Amino acid sequence: MDDKNFGTWLNNLTEAQIKEINDKQHEEHIRQVSAFKAGYQNEQCYLCGKDFKTISKEQACLHWLLRRGKFKKMISN
Ligand SMILES: [Zn+2]
Repeated sequence: MDDKNFGTWLNNLTEAQIKEINDKQHEEHIRQVSAFKAGYQNEQCYLCGKDFKTISKEQACLHWLLRRGKFKKMISN
């Protein structure tokens, strides 16, 4: 799907479809926040299962960003 088609697709979504997408994203968001919180309490990354302090050059992981506090908004939800 190119940008133009994607725009058309977006514009033609029904209210019900938009709601469905929003609900799904919301569920996914909640699931991730829960998993993150559980991992955070154990100082473990829920994405890769490693200690939060672990930084592996071979295995880049999002938890590096988490440590920098970019997800603070997510945690406080
Ligand atoms: Zn990780």
